[in-house]
Amino acid sequence: MTDHLIDQELLAIRHCPSCRGTLPERPTPPALVCSKCGLQYPVRDGIPVMLIEEATPSDR
Ligand SMILES: [Zn+2]
Repeated sequence: MTDHLIDQELLAIRHCPSCRGTLPERPTPPALVCSKCGLQYPVRDGIPVMLIEEATPSDR
């Protein structure tokens, strides 16, 4: 049961928590950038920070 919940979270980690858009990786600077709403999630020590309050909006 808990394994299923963990799998769901791992799947969700690749989607924007704000709009559920896909998150292509951007190598420099390291970030996951939402293809829908443009929020940029920082990557710290190789770990994506999937928190809306940590994300920065795209300028464009
Ligand atoms: Zn988004």
